[in-house]
Amino acid sequence: MRFMFESVCVFCGSSPGTRPGYAEAARAMGRELARRRIRLVYGGGDIGCMGELSRAALEAGGKVLGIIPRRLFERVATAEPTELVIADDMHDRKARMYEASEAFIALPGGVGTMDELFEAWTWRQLGYHSKPVGLLEVEGFFGPFLALIKTIAGEGFMSPALVADLIVDDEAPRLLDRMAAAPPIAYHKLQESRG
Ligand code: AMP
Repeated sequence: MRFMFESVCVFCGSSPGTRPGYAEAARAMGRELARRRIRLVYGGGDIGCMGELSRAALEAGGKVLGIIPRRLFERVATAEPTELVIADDMHDRKARMYEASEAFIALPGGVGTMDELFEAWTWRQLGYHSKPVGLLEVEGFFGPFLALIKTIAGEGFMSPALVADLIVDDEAPRLLDRMAAAPPIAYHKLQESRG
């Protein structure tokens, strides 16, 4: 059987966004992970697209690991995932999310989502891990983001190989298949800087 992940970390908005398509995509991702028996690792919240994602995975019989920092746990509603880890702070939470997962996927979201996406991707380019990073495109949300990334590469601040390293798809099943088939490390910044 072809390789498939056991645990995938998904970053997405704690808001629902303005278009129904965002919540629908979050639910589709949650269901697809459950269908493939892939454990969902996520931020633990029960609001916005995060809540849609985790509830859909749980309703479809999937395993869900929520990792939430203590400060947020005390203030916001959490979903009832199959496992909930209370992390010390945001740094601890991210470290635990990254350790518990074999791949990272971002859906549309706000600065929290962008922060998590960029950190996972930055760590990959430096060789801290070789786990693939992908985007689930929904209704063109990531178009301006991808244009910015291409501008950054065009202006010489990142390698075009790193741009190509980000796997973008608008279908959850295809995105997961492409990520599972991705080479362990397509690009390594330190190798490049050594020439
Ligand atoms: P944002 O994209 O700014 O809505 O933030 C979403 C990301 O930040 C998620 O992937 C979470 O890891 C984290 N986050 C933001 N708000 C919450 C919350 N209320 N509960 C749990 N995690 C949150």
